[in-house]
Formats: sequence, structure tokens, C-alpha cells
Amino acid sequence: MSAIDTLPPLREVITTHGLVAKKALGQNFLLDLNLTAKIARQAGDLADSDILEIGPGPGGLTRGLLAEGARRVLAIEKDQRCMPALDQIAQAYPGRLQVINGDALEINPLDHLTPPVRVVANLPYNVGTELLVRWLTPAVWPPVWTSLTLMFQREVAERIVAQPGSKAYGRLALLAQWRSNARIVLNLPPEAFSPPPKVSSAVVHIEALAAPRYPCDAKVLERIVAQAFNQRRKMLRAALKGAAPDIEDRLLAAGIKPTDRAETIDLERFCALARLMAQP
Ligand code: SAM
Repeated sequence: MSAIDTLPPLREVITTHGLVAKKALGQNFLLDLNLTAKIARQAGDLADSDILEIGPGPGGLTRGLLAEGARRVLAIEKDQRCMPALDQIAQAYPGRLQVINGDALEINPLDHLTPPVRVVANLPYNVGTELLVRWLTPAVWPPVWTSLTLMFQREVAERIVAQPGSKAYGRLALLAQWRSNARIVLNLPPEAFSPPPKVSSAVVHIEALAAPRYPCDAKVLERIVAQAFNQRRKMLRAALKGAAPDIEDRLLAAGIKPTDRAETIDLERFCALARLMAQP
């Protein structure tokens, strides 16, 4: 019998500890342990990795990660009510689960984990994008993490993997795809969660590349991409007006027509423009 079998079913855990879902904390729980094990398996080799999990809640995904052989899991959960349920899991897997009761936006535990580090989370929707952008824009590259396996609203997942010319293409796609491979590995209907959210969800798996796909300065790229998509319907010569007096010349030198719109420009040309913008 594996350790997961000695723990009570998640519905019982929720009743025992009075874990009525709180909307303000983005609580939509996964109660099917077959599904949480499946999500855990999308993360790659767990046995050789430390896992950072954000928002374990009652611990369904945490149990999946441990049962699938994670070397160690460090979980950060804001809701104090979940601590007894998570303690029970820690006891079933001695020395392999550490839980911090706190806000993931204020704690950065990546530096305290032993590489390789993989991040796996059914993220609270209200903080998911913020955390993703932070993980994609660290001070140094390659980052501490090897991979991110994250649940998002389907619409956000599509923005991460989007290609030029699509409505979903923008800042998130460019940030993610510049230095990593990103793909949707699982789609989930609202009924997979308790309580069901209003929208569908998807798991995105992101693997960090050793080096950026095209060279350029990260801060310059982030700045011009943000500016270009801030007014995505405008032609780039207007959207980037003020970025440089000779912006039209720089656009042309990067292979971009000044009348093009941001959503049609691929990553390679944004990187070329970032290199040109870095020049005096
Ligand atoms: N991982 C669990 C599962 O799959 O059933 C719960 C997922 S639920 C969508 C999001 C979890 O994140 C909740 O348990 C919530 O309390 C927690 N949470 C919300 N905001 C947080 C924050 N800023 N830092 C850490 N945890 C947070």
C-alpha cells in the first residue's frame, strides 16, 4: 500500500477541517487523486527534483506529487485553515514535505531549494499571472527553476502559448517563449474542481532554455513589448512613438514596417528591435 492510501479521502479532509472554499483566495479544489497524480506526472522527473508548490489548499496536488515520487516538496499556503490537513500529509511522507503558511507574493523560497527545482501549482487565479511574470523575468538566466507546470484559466494558458497573428498573442507569449518552451499539456472542464469555477482551465508546462532564443537585453525587450501591446490596435510607429526620435528607422532596420501592428510581429523581430533600441 502506498502512503497516499493511508490518508483520508479529500472530501473527508475538507469536512473534518471545515475548509469551505473562499472566493477571495481563489479556492477551487481538485479532489480527484487520479487527476492530481496525472498533473504531477506532467512535471517531468520528480524523483531528482525539489518541488515548489504554491497554494496546496487541502493537499490534493501535494499528495499527487509525493505519491508520484517527488524528492521533496516545499508548499506555500496563505490559508491558515489548511495547515492541519497539510501536517497530516507531511506525517505520511516523513522528511519530504515542508509547508510554509504565508503569501507566495511576499516569500521567495526558490533560493532555498536544492536544484533541480520544478514549480508545480494549481495557482490561485488572482495571483497566477503575477507569479508567472516574476518567474519568467529573474535577474539572471538560466533561472533557479528547471520547469513550471501550472494550472491557469484556459484563456490565460492560450496567451502563454499564442503565436503571432492570433488575438491571444502578446506580452505573456513573448516573455514565455523568448527563453522557454511552453505548451498546454492538459485541459480541464469546470466540473474537475470543487466548487466549479465559471471558466475552463488548462495546465501549461514551461521548460527553461539554457539561453534566450535570440540575444537582446531583457529589460529593453520587456519595455518595448509592453509599450507595443499597450495599444495593440495601433500601428507600431504610433504605439512606439516617444520610444526613440528615429523609431521608424529602427523599426525598418529590425525588418518591421512602421505600419505593422504588434500582434503580427514575431519574437525574432522583437528581439532585433530590442537590440537596436539598446543602441544610443
Ligand atoms: N492546490 C489545491 C488544489 O489543487 O486543490 C488548491 C488550489 S486553489 C485554486 C488555490 C490555493 O492557493 C488555495 O488553497 C488558496 O488558499 C491559495 N492561495 C491563494 N492566494 C495565495 C497566496 N498569495 N499565497 C499562497 N497561497 C495562496
